[in-house]
Amino acid sequence: MAAEGGSSSGTREVVEDDFFGAESGWVEARTACDHLPSLCSDLSQIPLPDSPCSRCHHPAENWLCLSCKDVFCSRFINKHMLKHYEESGHCLALSFSDLSVWCFECDAYLDVQMIWQLRPVYEVAHLLKFEERPSFRAIESLQLSSDQGEGSS
Ligand SMILES: [Zn+2]
Ligand SMILES: [Zn+2]
Ligand SMILES: [Zn+2]
Repeated sequence: MAAEGGSSSGTREVVEDDFFGAESGWVEARTACDHLPSLCSDLSQIPLPDSPCSRCHHPAENWLCLSCKDVFCSRFINKHMLKHYEESGHCLALSFSDLSVWCFECDAYLDVQMIWQLRPVYEVAHLLKFEERPSFRAIESLQLSSDQGEGSS
């Protein structure tokens, strides 16, 4: 019996793109939010994902305010995004570390794939961070179902 060339399967490579992918790992993200009107009207251009906090210049894993496109550090650093929300009422923020969107008013993550208003900025951020567009789940049918002719049987 030949010994199997069995390298142990113990080592596991973590592919960063997958790790940060939006396919899995969302924590109870909401699919609706009443505060979307506060989104900036032009989110086609946003700061780079490695932009420093505009207040303390913390260099990484910051948040982007989706109302004024300013960059602030997380609650784990100097809480400047939280303070910005408390001062300005800007409640929607996108995390540059995993591209999740948080609503301070809802106190919850928002599902960027299900909330179409968030998809453009998510796409731009994804493009800047990973240099490629995100692959959305096939949800077009949900969005368009009212338009499309339903099976006429
Ligand atoms: Zn909300
Ligand atoms: Zn800061
Ligand atoms: Zn803001």
